[in-house]
Amino acid sequence: MSREYEVIIGLEVHVELNTKTKIFCGCSTEFGGAPNTHVCPVCAGMPGSLPVLNKEVVNKAISVGLATNCEITRNSKFDRKNYFYPDNPQNYQISQLYYPICRNGHVTISAKGGAKDIRIHEIHMEEDAGKLIHDPVTDDTYVDFNRSGVPLIEIVSEPDMRSADEVIAYLEKLRETIQYLDASDCKLNEGSMRADVNISIREMGSEEFGTRTESKNLNSFKAIRRCIENEVNRQKEILEKGEKVVQETRRWDDLKGISYPMRSKEDAQDYRYFPDPDLVPIIVSDEWIEEIKAKQPEFKDEKKVRYKEMYGLPDYDIDQITGSKKLGEIFEGAVGAGADPKKVSNWLMVETMRLMKEHNLDADKLKFSAVNLAKLVKLVEAKKINNAVAKEVFEKAVFLDDMDPDKYVADNNLVMKTDSGALEEVIKKAFEANKKAVEDVLNGKGKAAGAIVGFVMKEMKGKCDPAEVNKLIATEIERRKN
Ligand code: ADP
Ligand code: ZN
Ligand code: MG
Repeated sequence: MSREYEVIIGLEVHVELNTKTKIFCGCSTEFGGAPNTHVCPVCAGMPGSLPVLNKEVVNKAISVGLATNCEITRNSKFDRKNYFYPDNPQNYQISQLYYPICRNGHVTISAKGGAKDIRIHEIHMEEDAGKLIHDPVTDDTYVDFNRSGVPLIEIVSEPDMRSADEVIAYLEKLRETIQYLDASDCKLNEGSMRADVNISIREMGSEEFGTRTESKNLNSFKAIRRCIENEVNRQKEILEKGEKVVQETRRWDDLKGISYPMRSKEDAQDYRYFPDPDLVPIIVSDEWIEEIKAKQPEFKDEKKVRYKEMYGLPDYDIDQITGSKKLGEIFEGAVGAGADPKKVSNWLMVETMRLMKEHNLDADKLKFSAVNLAKLVKLVEAKKINNAVAKEVFEKAVFLDDMDPDKYVADNNLVMKTDSGALEEVIKKAFEANKKAVEDVLNGKGKAAGAIVGFVMKEMKGKCDPAEVNKLIATEIERRKN
């Protein structure tokens, strides 16, 4: 008979901080660039070069720590983690082992049984390694040090998660918080956020944790979910056979849907950590912490409460438009400029998100101004343009070029013809040109009116209010019935 198991998961999450320069030198952190163009003696590990800490890295690490309810270590320092690997030119990584910058925090997620706190053991700062590029044709390996020295924070959770859903909720919470702080874009698929997932299972009711494995190479939420499911099943099968789970690091192959061992605990390296003698301790004063606290943004949860009170929008809308700081800014700006909140929210949730997808654009890259969106909303409200035209104006003028929609509408002669004399002329023409449809409508086939409406809209080149057209057509039909 198969037993019941509880799943235990703890995460180690690496986040690349978006500072302009690297953690210990002035080189650019920009992604891409020709190989080995963002390097200097420090990040190339040249003997005799000396690291100088980038204060902005500490600012960002502390801001993440404060946002995740951590204690800030007042006397923090860096340690050397020694190992040899070709992408690591110093033969050690500068990291924090003994005195990480933040400790004992937590974030609150919504789980099955309601709100749940996931504890954070620590957050430490470290430098990223370079990248090895293997040429399968020549069998040569190249090394690119552009990423070497890019600042990272590693957020280590306690083993508090009990399902894949909780893991995803935790990661989403971290991502949302860090994006609101503008500390990283947190993209799993580009490696600016990377999660190593530690998984063990134990018999339901047992007090002790089972042996865990650590899974690496997870670059999407979907991969994380599948990997957890797969690993839990693998461990169950082992225990059911009466065997023991081996503590090891495993690599998940998302294409094949399988994992395989990378290294076991037996061949775990001794990193011979010791305090880095080239860097002075980081002393964090009360003033420094207060300065960072004062700059913390309003986070999503706080914003949601305020939006509900101020604008009375549906929860779904609020969740969508607070999904990124940028969308919230545009929303508030447009409403501030006098546009109706629900209408603004609709433009953001429907057309903006559709175009973002089409142009493969993240919200933080949106460049249209709230004022121009507000103007567009007002143009529709004043019945100067209809919805179909508004979509075109939004895309071509506002979304792509951040142009004044009033000007675009005037330049392209898009204003609705409110002159009902002209409209009546066209409707007369439509009845002439669509005799069959008119007859059908008169015989009770209401659907046939579509052809008449279509004719009118085409003649008017869309510059009329469809509601008005429908009304005039209905009136004319009634007149003919009698
Ligand atoms: P190490 O010292 O080997 O790095 P840690 O105790 O620091 O191990 O834990 C590393 C990660 O593994 C943490 O995120 C922690 O929550 C998680 N973890 C520890 N024990 C377990 C376990 N039995 N099952 C699942 N995750 C665990
Ligand atoms: Zn450098
Ligand atoms: Mg550890």
